[in-house]
Amino acid sequence: MVLAALLILVIAIAAIVSVSIFACRSRQAQPAVAATAEPTDVPATPAPTATAAPTASPVPTATPPIADAWYTERTEAIERYVRAYSGLTDESEIQARVAGMAIDPTQKMVAFTFDDGPRDELTDAVLDVCEQYNVRVTFFIKGDYIAGHEAQLKRMLALGCEIGNHTWDHTDVETLTAEEMRQQIESVNDKLIELFGYAPKSFRPPYISYGAKGSDTRNTLIAIMQANGMAVINHTRSTHDTYDEYTADMIYERMIAPSDEGHALHYSIILCHDKTNKTINAFRRAVPVLLEQGYQLVTVYEMLSCSPDGFHAGWIYSKAD
Ligand SMILES: [Zn+2]
Repeated sequence: MVLAALLILVIAIAAIVSVSIFACRSRQAQPAVAATAEPTDVPATPAPTATAAPTASPVPTATPPIADAWYTERTEAIERYVRAYSGLTDESEIQARVAGMAIDPTQKMVAFTFDDGPRDELTDAVLDVCEQYNVRVTFFIKGDYIAGHEAQLKRMLALGCEIGNHTWDHTDVETLTAEEMRQQIESVNDKLIELFGYAPKSFRPPYISYGAKGSDTRNTLIAIMQANGMAVINHTRSTHDTYDEYTADMIYERMIAPSDEGHALHYSIILCHDKTNKTINAFRRAVPVLLEQGYQLVTVYEMLSCSPDGFHAGWIYSKAD
């Protein structure tokens, strides 16, 4: 009890004093965690049981630069998926692939996110870029697109990418009852766990719509997030790639601009969609440029876990302004 109370106190203090780069404009994130008074600040999702994957072997020989438990768990999961889905069979190649995904927490990083897929060739094209440059992104997928795209989802996991939850069929959660909202979200998790032993940690509400602070909708969503060890992930920079007037050049410029409305590219969560060729073309151009500038392209979960805020179930990550 004393430990739990202490933990709650620490969380509360951390939430209050945190001058967060992600602190959202209405400060949803802090009250969400401070008010719940539950020690659910660490990702509660268990490591994938890897129904399709063989037993994990020890972590890579290269010493990870991060000693935290989340990083060990993340690296072991990547190794399982590389082993299961990459097609590599040589042990040294497997170890080299996993070691190549190590993160240096002292260096700049950015998290690209692709919504509304997976979609055949376009998602494949994003994954081709990830594989070519050994970078990782996060895909916020729709549950009703899972069937028929299993191979792409396996490839995402083998490349260390993150699969985020974007509801089963892209319904605005503000229009749903609490039970409907839970089903829209948990049905996606259930399917991914069933197929790949993978439990998503990140949720992006369609239309970035989840009710005002204090509303029943938002409170319900936060409760669902906490029950599933998940966080709500908005974006801190949009590429505007769904606007007809935005060309590949303009999207590319959005991807690499050193700052946007005063927010540095470092630690940015960038919103993209694997829906149009212009987005893919811009991404293909941006990746080598960002790598040359010293950015690491990592998943949302990895980046938040490395950030001063950390990753916390039930939090809402958004743009400060
Ligand atoms: Zn969407």
